[in-house]
Amino acid sequence: MIPSVVLSTRGEQRLQSGHPWVYRSDVTEVRAEAGDRVIVRGPRGRPLGHAFYSDRSQIAIRMLTFGGDGAPADDGLIRRRIEAALAFRESLAIDATAYRLIHGEADQLPSLIVDRYGDHLVVQTLSQGMDRLLPLVVATLGDLIHPRGILARNDPRARLLEGLEQRVEVLAGEIPESVTVAENGIEYDVDLRRGQKTGLFLDQRENRAAAALYAHGRVLDCFSYHGGFALRLARAASETIAIDVSEDAIARLRANAARNGVAIDARVGNVFDDLRGFERLGERFDAIVLDPPAFAKSKAAIEKATTGYKEINLRALKLLNPGGMLVTCSCSYNVNEGAFAQIVYEASVDARAHVTVVEKRMQARDHPVLLGVPETYYLKCFILRKLA
Ligand code: SAH
Repeated sequence: MIPSVVLSTRGEQRLQSGHPWVYRSDVTEVRAEAGDRVIVRGPRGRPLGHAFYSDRSQIAIRMLTFGGDGAPADDGLIRRRIEAALAFRESLAIDATAYRLIHGEADQLPSLIVDRYGDHLVVQTLSQGMDRLLPLVVATLGDLIHPRGILARNDPRARLLEGLEQRVEVLAGEIPESVTVAENGIEYDVDLRRGQKTGLFLDQRENRAAAALYAHGRVLDCFSYHGGFALRLARAASETIAIDVSEDAIARLRANAARNGVAIDARVGNVFDDLRGFERLGERFDAIVLDPPAFAKSKAAIEKATTGYKEINLRALKLLNPGGMLVTCSCSYNVNEGAFAQIVYEASVDARAHVTVVEKRMQARDHPVLLGVPETYYLKCFILRKLA
């Protein structure tokens, strides 16, 4: 018998809104094992589609197909979806050898992440159902891309919610200690096993290129990591300072700067303290980037996150020369675009700065947002100009 689950009326309504997740509290009957592909039925038995079932996570159901008459969610469907995701990335003509090939729900492959770093791939399977399909995913990627190596970066904490262990392992071929990739003409050495996320912050690629159009004079890159923004902006700058709290990140940034022949004053420090320090010393900048980690990782953290975002934006606006540019980002999906805009506005009022919005941007196109699924719109990036 094909595994199946039955939803409550509320669960059925949620699916009608297009959202691909159903919470455990909206599942009334389960005839399935952990990680099964199941038929999902409404309260009166009507088939609603096919899904992954998790016996652990609060997200019990992740839809693969919608509707009663859809094709079954078999291995062929998974392969066709992988092909479609790859074809879309191909069509984007991305100016980089590192980018996201598969972005989970937005590619109709729930909880699957695949990033390309040149000839190497990094994979994450973040639910029971997708984890079980890892061999199929690896075989399909091998067939379609012929990578030199595939690494599972299955260390995100999200896997614990699914009862899956945290594990980093080579699944195919070889993964060297360091892989070299290029983005918009800049080369990076990446440690795929230990770098943050899958190695680099690929979602900021287009924002870095956009910011470079406006950068001039004295540039400050806050929360720099390996120097994604600093390396890109330094070419147009007279002086570039980068700050990150991680010594490892700053060491990598310095190596990247040397490799690309750009001068960056890279400092290990806490941005909150250093912005205050610059203010005390009366320093001024012509371009500042704020790309902090997600301050609001949960709903409970929103208030504290708001205070944090406001503080750094306020201080940065004060440090900007008239005509200067602020690139301000938030990757907390719990703080949506409207809320983030309000925080930045309030910071500008307190800084007594008049500010225009030059561009409102988001995560790069290889990390698509799925309409109606706010969880997939996580990265906001505003490019602002401080008026005289
Ligand atoms: N801008 C980077 C990505 C930044 S990720 C890029 O384009 O690649 C966020 C970074 O903030 C991480 O490298 C983390 O080490 C750093 N960080 C977190 N808290 C910090 C703090 N209080 N001060 C300075 N850096 C911090």
